[in-house]
Amino acid sequence: MGAHDVIDYGTHIGEVNWRLNLQINRKMEDDRLLAGVKSGLQAAVTDPLTGLYNRRFGMSQLDRLATETLQNKGEMALILADLDHFKLVNDRYGHAAGDAVLSQVAQIMSGSLRKEDIVARIGGEEFMILLPNVTPAQANQTARRICQSVRNTRIQIGSLSGPASQSITVTTSLGVALLNGADGHCLTPDALFRRADRALYGSKSGGRGTVTVCRRSAA
Ligand code: GH3
Ligand code: MG
Ligand code: MG
Repeated sequence: MGAHDVIDYGTHIGEVNWRLNLQINRKMEDDRLLAGVKSGLQAAVTDPLTGLYNRRFGMSQLDRLATETLQNKGEMALILADLDHFKLVNDRYGHAAGDAVLSQVAQIMSGSLRKEDIVARIGGEEFMILLPNVTPAQANQTARRICQSVRNTRIQIGSLSGPASQSITVTTSLGVALLNGADGHCLTPDALFRRADRALYGSKSGGRGTVTVCRRSAA
């Protein structure tokens, strides 16, 4: 903390005390400022409702991962998930219940992923999951696991102890797109996103609550 810089033989004890206090106060102020910067940075990339990454950070990670995957000739997957008939949840149980559903679905998704995977809330009830270094089979498996877990989880709405406490279930539709850096085609992050979106649309139009994989990995 800088004590050696201010203690000198022969210096009056009162002076030493004063200098030490000055240094300690400076250190505490620096720590406070640093903590403020860190929490500000954290807030800038976080969705406040779910604690997931926000859209802006998620999109920047998509760019970064897609670029790395092409450079390393590796494989990655992008999953888009959209809750089914979510408007009905709000209409039937209220906006607060809808918020509770979003938070708990976010937890289910985070809990189904590896630590290197990235999940962001990119819209009201829309999520993007980035899976670096996965085979198509692994990506498919992850999407199916999330689909099942969301379907099978009873989600608590209202306070646990309150009279309005009840649980409901929801489903989610998912679309998966794959990027293979070794196949010689250059797929932009935007194009990868559009593919996952088309696959998601396939799940919606196919009845919802399912996973659709966009099979083509070339541009
Ligand atoms: P689909 O199966 O076709 O996706 O239908 P949907 O009802 O899920 O989709 P739609 O786009 O019609 O409605 C999305 C709803 O999500 C409407 C909006 O009020 C709600 N929503 C968006 N953001 C939030 C939020 O932060 N909290 C809550 N409670 N609701 C939200
Ligand atoms: Mg939507
Ligand atoms: Mg929806």
